Amino acid sequence: MLKDLFIGLSQNELLNSAAKKYGLKLGAQSVVAGTNLDEAIQSIKELNAHGISCTVDNLGEFVYKKEEAAEAKKQIIEVIEAIHENQVDAHISLKPSQLGLDIDYSFCLENVREIVERASNYGIFVNMDMEDSKRLQPSFDLLDELSKEYNNIGTVIQAYFLDAEEDLMKYKDFRLRIVKGAYKEPEEIAYQEKSDIDANFIKLIEWHLLNGKFTSIATHDHKVINHVKDFVRANNIPNEKFEFQMLYGFRKDMQLKLAGEGYNFCTYVPFGNDWYGYFMRRLAERPQNLNLVAKQVFNK
Ligand code: FAD
Repeated sequence: MLKDLFIGLSQNELLNSAAKKYGLKLGAQSVVAGTNLDEAIQSIKELNAHGISCTVDNLGEFVYKKEEAAEAKKQIIEVIEAIHENQVDAHISLKPSQLGLDIDYSFCLENVREIVERASNYGIFVNMDMEDSKRLQPSFDLLDELSKEYNNIGTVIQAYFLDAEEDLMKYKDFRLRIVKGAYKEPEEIAYQEKSDIDANFIKLIEWHLLNGKFTSIATHDHKVINHVKDFVRANNIPNEKFEFQMLYGFRKDMQLKLAGEGYNFCTYVPFGNDWYGYFMRRLAERPQNLNLVAKQVFNK
């Protein structure tokens, strides 16, 4: 019920544009690493100092004009330049919709190509986040097209999709992030029960750890993390084959602990003034995240 409410709020364009004007509010500052690039680079340096690498998301949603997509591309290229100049341990996460997927596929392809090309000059990896089901196939199409020319690109497999295993097998030679899935999808194409999603998540992770190139296990779920630790030990899977990922601001102690234990750890660092949709989806995933909001509001 609450999940539906927050997903609904995340898709509200009016609230989204209002939020942009007023800076980080509602507790978003605890899960968004600032509104500008300097603040984001500072956060990355702090995480790097703890042996944690980062994937940087220049937040952006509801892009329906070519100028907005071109501006998003420019900003992501600035992030790439800043990663290179500051020599920080970080790569890029981007959303195809931010780069014009909902406007025109070819236009989006060229935008993503420019980003991947620039990143490739510096040996920086680019991950294409996966959004909702209507953008799934066009996003895979972008990957198919760009991977003919570049090898610094990968994507995300969402375990709630009934067909996720097929996609995983098809893209096994890519660096893949595996997640449970953050959007609301119909039962014709996606598992609805948490137990089914969790079981498929584990199945996909195990398969890719054994057969895939490199696996980013993106979850805050300690049960899954503990299972993976046992699984890699039992199957002699070396640390170089996988990493754990969590979102900025979540389970910080566990992030530091996993990095301290010698696992590769990568924090997803979102920044920018377009924080609203991202923040609402985090509340949808776990309404207890409202605790973070309460702490921000009362601990002034
Ligand atoms: P949940 O199922 O939310 O939680 C399982 C259990 O873990 C909870 O019951 C609780 O016991 C514990 N737990 C969870 N969070 C906390 C917390 N903050 N504090 C204490 N205990 C907690 N989704 C997409 O659709 N596309 C993407 O491209 C994408 N990229 C992602 C990248 C990263 C790095 C991460 C971490 C997530 C990404 N997601 C993405 C979101 C993902 O799909 C899930 O919606 C999200 O991670 C919530 O699921 P979970 O696996 O963390 O665990």
